Amino acid sequence: MLVSPELADVLSAIIQRLQNSDGSIPLVVSYDVRVKIWNPPMPVLFQRGIGNERRAFTPSAIRKLLINSLAATELTGTNGGPLIFQAHDFRRIFVTDAIMNGLPPHIAQVICGHKTIDTTMGCKAVYPAETIEAHRGFVTRRRATRPSEEYRTPTDAEWDAFLVHFEKRKVSVGTCARAFGSPCVHEHACVRCSLLRPDPTQRARLEEIRDNLEARIIEAKREGWLGEVEGLQVSYSSVKDKLTQIDATLQRRATATELGMPSFGSISGRASAHEN
Ligand code: SF4
Repeated sequence: MLVSPELADVLSAIIQRLQNSDGSIPLVVSYDVRVKIWNPPMPVLFQRGIGNERRAFTPSAIRKLLINSLAATELTGTNGGPLIFQAHDFRRIFVTDAIMNGLPPHIAQVICGHKTIDTTMGCKAVYPAETIEAHRGFVTRRRATRPSEEYRTPTDAEWDAFLVHFEKRKVSVGTCARAFGSPCVHEHACVRCSLLRPDPTQRARLEEIRDNLEARIIEAKREGWLGEVEGLQVSYSSVKDKLTQIDATLQRRATATELGMPSFGSISGRASAHEN
């Protein structure tokens, strides 16, 4: 998630203060006052040590800290009275700031975990006209960084070329990942090319290529074809890299973490907590 440099600085100070000697953040349980459940141990950032125990700050403790911090700043409201903040106000400040700086409201909705865009729009302290202006400004700034000729309907020939490009990406041992509109710069020596995404189902074919290269290297050395040895060795080590990539992919798939299904009660509870 993108954060401002100031917030990154604060988060990094909090994390440094909490880190164990191995760099991890202590896991603590916390009570969700809205959903009324104990959360499992998590690396929460608002935590403190009490005796030998680590405990999460309660919302009321955080509120008191905020009130004390605001009093220390001697800032006051427009009526001259003390400023009063709640932790939840920071969600509103974040949404307002993000939308006013051009973040599309539907993205702010996803970041905040709101079920509907209305909740997000209710969170921000700006008028719809300002939101639209801010978003228009964002689009204009983004377009200014791209050549204007990109913003037009593609011709039939361009569309066909686009489709053909992706059809032509499939090669015998995987998929070519070169950018659209760019030619093959490696003379179709795919097994030596870093842009090849090897296909795990083609492992046997790659093993065959590796064994063949091994035999050719032995033969070239035996026959004194030293001019060929270097090139064959580059191909040989590239094929071995591709096999390692395939193994890593298969390993990742085999060790996928089962996250389980959250219970219905906790989903609705959390959704309503986010909605508030
Ligand atoms: S050599 Fe590289 S860029 Fe060329 S087709 Fe093969 S994978 Fe793509």
